[in-house]
Amino acid sequence: MSRIWNFAAGPAVLPAEVLEQVKDELLDWHGAGCGVMEMSHRGKEFTSIIETAEADLRELLGIPGNYKVLFLQGGATQQFAQLPMNLLPAGASAEYLVTGSWSKKAIKEAQRVCEGVASVRNAGSTEAAGFTRNLDTSVNANEISIDANAAYLHLCTNETIHGLELDCSRLPQTNVPIVADMSSHILSRPVDVSKYAMIYAGAQKNIGPSGVAIVIVREDFLGKAWKTIPSVMDYAVMAENGSMLNTPPTFAIYVSGLVFKWLKRQGGLAEMEKINRHKAELLYACIDESEGFYRNPVRVADRSRMNVPFTLASAELDTDFLAESKAAGLASLKGHKSVGGMRASIYNAMPTDGVRALVEFMQDFRKRKA
Ligand SMILES: *Cc1c(COP(=O)(O)O)cnc(C)c1O
Repeated sequence: MSRIWNFAAGPAVLPAEVLEQVKDELLDWHGAGCGVMEMSHRGKEFTSIIETAEADLRELLGIPGNYKVLFLQGGATQQFAQLPMNLLPAGASAEYLVTGSWSKKAIKEAQRVCEGVASVRNAGSTEAAGFTRNLDTSVNANEISIDANAAYLHLCTNETIHGLELDCSRLPQTNVPIVADMSSHILSRPVDVSKYAMIYAGAQKNIGPSGVAIVIVREDFLGKAWKTIPSVMDYAVMAENGSMLNTPPTFAIYVSGLVFKWLKRQGGLAEMEKINRHKAELLYACIDESEGFYRNPVRVADRSRMNVPFTLASAELDTDFLAESKAAGLASLKGHKSVGGMRASIYNAMPTDGVRALVEFMQDFRKRKA
């Protein structure tokens, strides 16, 4: 068996060690006589799986005790709608920062759901700059206007398509509660959870298989849900039921739990950050030292360590690059259609050796084609 270096944006690479363990436990989990996919979500085996997963996630992220952790379905996209139904009471307003495709989708969906009920406002956008930088959050920059009475401020801390990342030390200065979509960089670095009212993430970028989304929400933000909200979408109801009002995505939660254990074995998020920073440095250096053969358009301070979009000297080279990289065992490098060019997603589970292999290929390709 030979595994590719998988640079897919999501669903994405998982740690080989975790997949081996899944394989070993597939037919018989810890002597249960059946696999996790086949067991009751109410039984003591699965109860221990979900409780351990939550405890490990709490430990990794340092989640304070007054936050609930929910394992939900519908992906991060469902959260775009579910969030205002839970946290934006009728007649209230929410502010959204638009810094890339995902935050743009988030505001669009919130506006759709809230039409005639509550106000969803664009509080600042970098769309005119082609989403190549984050908003300037300093008080005097005048790029952002936040209504101090807003129920929450929504932002996306890693724009997967445009390749922008916002470190939690550079959040806007505001007393308005902040809600962050961290789908594509959660667990890649330490984060101060207490700075957020809520954090959410779909699993298939940096956590586990698709099918589960994680919501981390401060308890005092619960209980404001619309009266008409479906009960499976009500965070408070889900919290009361330990994410098991109905059948949860058991297999995805199980594999996510194994990834949390794997992250702990790597040394936790401080260690992951070191590794991720190094991987990103290798790749950005290759781009920046290519004398314009490769280009990444994002302002240096805002570049994502997880998703690295880049273009080649001419678009005619794209086909060759994709075919030759694939032949070299480097997969899923085609950029998102809205940005073009290439994109390498280098999540937690992408080993440094994979990034080195990509860099070597890129240097060689350039030598041959420049
Ligand atoms: C992938 C992604 C989403 C959408 O996730 P789904 O689970 O497919 O709904 C939302 N936000 C960000 C930042 C993403 O990367």
